[in-house]
Amino acid sequence: MRTEIIAVGSELLLGQIANTNAQFLSKELAEIGLNVYYHTVVGDNPVRLESAIKIAKERSNIIIFTGGLGPTKDDLTKETISKSLGKNLVFDHSALESIEDYFARTKRTMSENNKKQALVIEGSTILKNDYGMAPGMALEADQTIYMLLPGPPSEMSPMFKNYGREFFQNQLGIQDKIVSRVLRYFGIGESQLETDIQDLIDGQTNPTVAPLAADGEVTLRLTAKHTDEKTAQKLLDEVERKINVRVGDFFYGYNETTLINEVMAQLVKKKKTIAAAESLTGGMFSELVTSLEGASQVFNGSIISYTNEVKKQILHIQEETLAAYGAVSEQCAKEMAEQVRKLLNSDIGISFTGAAGPEQHEGQPVGTVFIGIADKDQTNVYALNLAGSRKGIRTRTAKYGCHYLVK
Ligand code: ATP
Ligand code: MG
Repeated sequence: MRTEIIAVGSELLLGQIANTNAQFLSKELAEIGLNVYYHTVVGDNPVRLESAIKIAKERSNIIIFTGGLGPTKDDLTKETISKSLGKNLVFDHSALESIEDYFARTKRTMSENNKKQALVIEGSTILKNDYGMAPGMALEADQTIYMLLPGPPSEMSPMFKNYGREFFQNQLGIQDKIVSRVLRYFGIGESQLETDIQDLIDGQTNPTVAPLAADGEVTLRLTAKHTDEKTAQKLLDEVERKINVRVGDFFYGYNETTLINEVMAQLVKKKKTIAAAESLTGGMFSELVTSLEGASQVFNGSIISYTNEVKKQILHIQEETLAAYGAVSEQCAKEMAEQVRKLLNSDIGISFTGAAGPEQHEGQPVGTVFIGIADKDQTNVYALNLAGSRKGIRTRTAKYGCHYLVK
């Protein structure tokens, strides 16, 4: 099945917004086994939309439109499609009722334009809009399937997930349940991870394994299909096991979790508290922790000891340590972690010191980072050589701190 997505909207062509609808739909369609061959973007112009439809009809079996279902003059998608299919627009009574209902509830007056939103292409299946007024629609004509979805992603994505997907599954007789799981990794680059599991990525068709890198992390999306959901989950378990035999050291969690969520969960479970001494991160670790609800259960506080003066006066780092090794050193990181643990009366002390750039610091090259983690029995210091911008180095340093805490 050759599938094409046509995003309608001049704002897309002007570069005011990115075509995230096509991105979302492509991922969703891949999961039900529909191959997207083309992404087309066309402005709010009926003549050019008509020619885009003409081209799509010749090369695709499924054409999905987003945008232009609203009440305003420039919203012309369904008008143009109905014309090019030689079909009429008719009022859908339940859509009209829900629009009237919406205006009654919000005590606003309904304009004639709004009524236009209840017009649908005759013979189409209505896709309910749970988050807006314009209904979506789907129909088959001349052996081509057409689906019309609204532009706003907050309306389009639930409509597709809840109704659009089912339409395709019914129409194409897809019996399979689709389950997916995201595995999250930190501390390993995308290319390294891919190299380590290349044979598994290539050899797998069910489940499929799709890597994606973002924000210094790598994720693997596993998707399995089976008529029985439990069996599909088992297929995911099996491939997850195979993958993590190789790269499990870098695995930290599933789906929507984050490193700091995992840190928090572990500290809560072990009933431990933490304090931070932050130099190059300037409070970024503290920001990560305190962005979570319930942080006060585990986080006592932090000392942002940016200058050597503050390291000496507030954290009581020894003068000799700074003189002999400098602030960007294993020794300094060790003392910072131990001192903050004691001063803030915590089970764990974590420290961050390093050269974030753009200039080297006390002779240490940019990207040299030391992270200390102290508890009552021992202190570990991790040395890193990070590449990238000042911002990237600082962000990743804070994340590495989380990574070592959950290890
Ligand atoms: P409305 O009823 O809000 O007018 P509509 O179905 O007519 O909805 P458009 O007018 O085309 O849709 O777009 C409305 C908004 O939806 C756009 O301003 C934009 O913010 C968002 N949007 C539209 N198309 C896309 C797209 N392809 N990707 C991401 N966002 C989009
Ligand atoms: Mg609109």
